[in-house]
Amino acid sequence: MFTMEIFLILMVGIFGLLIGSFLNVVAIRTLTGESVAFPSSHCMACHTALKPYELVPILSYVLLRGKCRSCKIQISPVYPIGELVTSMLFMLFAWKLGFQLELIPGLIFISIMVIIVQTDIKKRIIPDRVLLYGLIVIVLFRLFIFHPLPLWNYTLASLIVGVLLYTLAAVSKGGIGGGDIKLFALIALFMGMKATLLTLFAASLIGFLFGMLGRLQQERKHITAIPFGPYIALVGTFAYLWGEPLFDWYWGLFT
Ligand SMILES: [Zn+2]
Repeated sequence: MFTMEIFLILMVGIFGLLIGSFLNVVAIRTLTGESVAFPSSHCMACHTALKPYELVPILSYVLLRGKCRSCKIQISPVYPIGELVTSMLFMLFAWKLGFQLELIPGLIFISIMVIIVQTDIKKRIIPDRVLLYGLIVIVLFRLFIFHPLPLWNYTLASLIVGVLLYTLAAVSKGGIGGGDIKLFALIALFMGMKATLLTLFAASLIGFLFGMLGRLQQERKHITAIPFGPYIALVGTFAYLWGEPLFDWYWGLFT
C-alpha cells in the first residue's frame, strides 16, 4: 500500500540523489584543491561547462550514455554510483529512524561518509576540512537541538576513543592516521557509547585481518596501503542502525 510514509521516504531518496551529486563534486574538488563553488561543473577532460540538463543525477549519465557531450570521453561511473548510494542510504536512514530530529544528524553523517569513502579509496586521504566541519555541526546539533542519549554518553564515548586511539597511534608509530582518529571522534559524538565501542571492536578486527593480509602481500612484494576509512564508515553505519541488540548480547556474555 502506498502510504504517506513511503511517499516521504521516496522524497528523501530524490533529495539524496541531489546531495549525492553535490558530494561527488566536493570529493573530487577536495582532492584537486579546487573551490567547491567555482568554477561551475565542467568536464574533467575538455573543461566544457555542463548544461543544466547534464546535471540531472543518474538520468544525465544514462541519456549521455556515460560520455561527455563535447569530447566524448568516458565519464567515470563513480558519479552515478555515488548518487545512487547516497540516495539509498538516505532512504535507509529515513525508513529506520522515521521522520524525527535524529534523521538530520543521520543524513549529515551519511554525507560525510560518502565523501570520505571516495577520497580514501582514490587517494588514501580523509580530508581534514570535511571532518572538522562535520564535527562542528554534530557537536552543535547535539548540544543545542537534539540528543537521544544523555550528553555525558557522547562525551565519554569521544574521550574513550580519543585516549585509546592516540595511545595506539603513539605505540604503533603511524599505524593509525590522524584522519582515522577524527573519524572516530565524529562517530562517538554522533552515536554515543554502545555503537562507538562496537565500531571500534569490529574495525580493529578488520584492521587485524587486513594487517595479516598486508604482511602476506609484502612477501609477494606488493606493498599497498589499506584505505581504512571505508571500513570504519561501513561498520559505523551498521553499528548505529542495528548495533544496540548486538552490543547488549555481547556485554551480557561478560556480566
Ligand atoms: Zn569533455
